[in-house]
Amino acid sequence: MRTSETVTDLGLYTSECCSEKVIFDVGDSFRRCPKCHALCIWEFEDEVVDPEEVKRESGVAA
Ligand SMILES: [Zn+2]
Repeated sequence: MRTSETVTDLGLYTSECCSEKVIFDVGDSFRRCPKCHALCIWEFEDEVVDPEEVKRESGVAA
């Protein structure tokens, strides 16, 4: 998936250039990479089913 395409699967995506993780929802458009602001390829990483899981994913817990 690349920047400006429409999201067809809710999930966690990773930008190919910087490995930035972003959650996109169905019907959204893929953004530019939040880190380098370039047009980028988004790799589907993980399904998002539980909103609580989203919070954990975006936290800094390691
Ligand atoms: Zn980037």
